[in-house]
Amino acid sequence: MISPQQAEHIIANCHLKLEPETVSIEAALHRTLAEDLYADHDLPPFNRVMMDGIAIAFRAIEQGITSFVLEGIQRAGEPQKQLQHAHHALEVMTGAVCPQGTDTVIPYEQLTITDGIAHVLECPAASGKNIHARAKDQQAGDCLARKGVRIGPAEIGIAASIGKAELLVNALPRVAICSTGDELVSITEVPLPHQIRRSNVYALQALMRAQGINSDLAHLPDDAHALTVALEKLTAQYDIILLSGGVSKGKFDLIPEVLESIGVACLFHRIAQKPGKPMWFGHNARCVVFAFPGNPVSTLACAARYLLPWIQSQQGLSISQWVEVHEEITLLEKLTQFIPVRFVTDGQQSKLAIIRNQGSGDFSALSGACGFIEVPSGADVNDAFNRFRFFPLP
Ligand code: AMP
Ligand code: MG
Repeated sequence: MISPQQAEHIIANCHLKLEPETVSIEAALHRTLAEDLYADHDLPPFNRVMMDGIAIAFRAIEQGITSFVLEGIQRAGEPQKQLQHAHHALEVMTGAVCPQGTDTVIPYEQLTITDGIAHVLECPAASGKNIHARAKDQQAGDCLARKGVRIGPAEIGIAASIGKAELLVNALPRVAICSTGDELVSITEVPLPHQIRRSNVYALQALMRAQGINSDLAHLPDDAHALTVALEKLTAQYDIILLSGGVSKGKFDLIPEVLESIGVACLFHRIAQKPGKPMWFGHNARCVVFAFPGNPVSTLACAARYLLPWIQSQQGLSISQWVEVHEEITLLEKLTQFIPVRFVTDGQQSKLAIIRNQGSGDFSALSGACGFIEVPSGADVNDAFNRFRFFPLP
């Protein structure tokens, strides 16, 4: 049996062959950039007035002048005007170009205006006040966002500011999610006493959707022939297949043998972990298959631990998170544990608290879970410690 770190490493060495694609800026949210974004002009592009008030030449203040004849108004969006007389001023509005011949803005709050003359009550201490100098933030050609970044509102704003109506993003994989198990019925049915509703596929679909990835759902029976026919079709059509159930040691846990029989090579089966020990992972030339054990907490923990970081790394993102949890945890001698946690707050401070559940079948306690902490096995830890790798549920 391999360790979670070995499993992570094996998965990381599988790559999706997806070409970048161009999408409109409106469709780019949550995708990842497949290009660097560069400033196409200085930011700001001109000496920008930052306050409504008057623009003057600071030399005039140094010469003791505190009353300024107003020559006119420089509005935002108007071409740059010229101050005609060095001891005069122009009224300026926020967002306007700083007029030629001026270098300092005094806000209305620091002056009074009577009969076209501004009387300064509070003189600025230095030239350049209230002017956002050209190229102070970035120069033309500077990189504003790097390849691999997940596109959020900030990146959308940056892209718009540099005139990108379309963005090159990493393609999204085509994903199929299938449950297996003859005891499972659809969520709209009332289960008979020996049946349960299939919930895992919806949980997995939600996880994918939170990554901006759509997926198709299917349900397969515990029957070798039916599984073979269905999985042959799915592995030809999709980039990623997520399966839940059918990978343990039961007589009808047929997934590993069926997958191998249709040419999906096993890269590992079983990880020294709890929950999710029977997880299976493999690939063929064009698709990758994650086969999770059917217990709902196992499915979710394995997906958070292995699937999400891998999906993100395929999109160019690499995030490793660590958190502190200050609670007693009983270590298992040989198995790494994935323990669900939630944020609790006492009104002052937030902290992570363990969600105590009834084992890997107990989905009911998970509401509010923000992710899983990875607790190494007793063999890997000698001291009490409270810092853990964290695998968030988006
Ligand atoms: P298996 O991994 O197929 O042995 O299933 C382990 C347990 O998880 C069984 O009790 C199944 O009924 C349950 N299970 C399997 N798939 C699902 C699913 N999609 N939703 C809810 N429970 C499931
Ligand atoms: Mg089953």
